[in-house]
Amino acid sequence: MKAEILAVGTEILLGQILNTNAQYLAKQLAELGITLHYQTVVGDNPQRLTKALDTAFSRANLVIMTGGLGPTQDDLTKETAAAYFNAPMVLHEDILAEIKAYFRRMDRPFTDNNIKQAAFPEGSLIIPNHNGTAPGCIMEKDEKIAVVLPGPPRENIPMFEDTVKAYLREKSGIQIFSRTVHIFGIGEATLEQMLLDLTESTDPTVATYAKDGEVEVRVSSAAQTEKQAQEKIEPVVDIIRARAGNAIYGYDDTSVAETVLEALKSRGWKLAAAESCTGGMIASALVDISGSSEVFEAGFVTYANRAKMNMVGVKPQTLEQFGAVSTQTAQEMAEGARKTADVDIAVSVTGVAGPGGGTPEKPVGLVYIAVATKEKTVCREFHFPGNRLKIRTLTMKNALKMVLDQVK
Ligand code: ATP
Ligand code: MG
Repeated sequence: MKAEILAVGTEILLGQILNTNAQYLAKQLAELGITLHYQTVVGDNPQRLTKALDTAFSRANLVIMTGGLGPTQDDLTKETAAAYFNAPMVLHEDILAEIKAYFRRMDRPFTDNNIKQAAFPEGSLIIPNHNGTAPGCIMEKDEKIAVVLPGPPRENIPMFEDTVKAYLREKSGIQIFSRTVHIFGIGEATLEQMLLDLTESTDPTVATYAKDGEVEVRVSSAAQTEKQAQEKIEPVVDIIRARAGNAIYGYDDTSVAETVLEALKSRGWKLAAAESCTGGMIASALVDISGSSEVFEAGFVTYANRAKMNMVGVKPQTLEQFGAVSTQTAQEMAEGARKTADVDIAVSVTGVAGPGGGTPEKPVGLVYIAVATKEKTVCREFHFPGNRLKIRTLTMKNALKMVLDQVK
């Protein structure tokens, strides 16, 4: 679908008003993925308007006209377009009644010249106007579409939003395609700064959504085919990839847990988990995904100290000397889980989920996560914000991300 914007009004030609309608409509068309090659301005003159319409339809199949829908002598856009389409004007009594009611509400006298605002080309679709007296209309004939909107922006913008947009979407067969980039470990605010120039673009649009330590960046474009959309989306995804690098763990419909399983599967590795404050959330997140049995071997919920010693072999001295929430305990949990389950890699978590149980040395939100492989054990200290569930969720997700970082 190719469009042309035809702004009608001698005031625009004389430079008395700025053609902001064309700017607004052009932006909207770009967002809808409709090609726009020309914007035209013509004065309030029926011959020149007819000529301009003819020219417009010689190079476009959609012409959006604004201005000249009012009650006065020089408002002749609708009538000229109707003549161009060979459609007689038909009076709509229901719309006339609405216009009269509008005048009453505004406490303005109704004069007969307003009647023409209720007349429309035969067979046209009416575009309701809730902010003024003149409804707009859409005419269709021989693959040609004319959209006629009033001049005042406070009227035509809501009309475009409420009616024309959906109509054009449907007509042009245009759909929104998008690609989602999953990012972990960069806060939403920081990421927004990093992608500021991209989020200002209108095609494709770039938006960020944050949840539980993750940020999704959605890159969307409106187009007739997926291929057309991807041509706009992919270069932007490449830029995001260059800027966010390692923090990107996947694309589209995926989760950290799914990515971890895929990565381990492709290595042929088995995983075990020893969980304290998450109480099985890591195991559950993995088991949620079908096919996890190829990768996930065992989960130990070692909540009490005794369980940490009995199930995954944490040394009593370690617990005594450093406490249950410590690097040393986390490391021994991971190493013990790996050996006990006889697997390639194990992850462990131990922390203070709150709301009680915090101390000045070990406050609520302090969490240690360790990952052990045959070669090495890594451990990180985290300070998570939020309530008990939030802290536990963040722990689970970060544990999975740490596993991923070891196998990527
Ligand atoms: P009305 O019923 O108010 O006469 P209309 O549909 O007949 O509406 P015009 O008479 O062409 O529209 O213009 C009315 C007013 O709308 C102008 O004075 C101007 O303020 C605004 N307007 C018209 N065309 C444009 C445009 N292209 N861009 C921005 N504003 C416009
Ligand atoms: Mg007018």
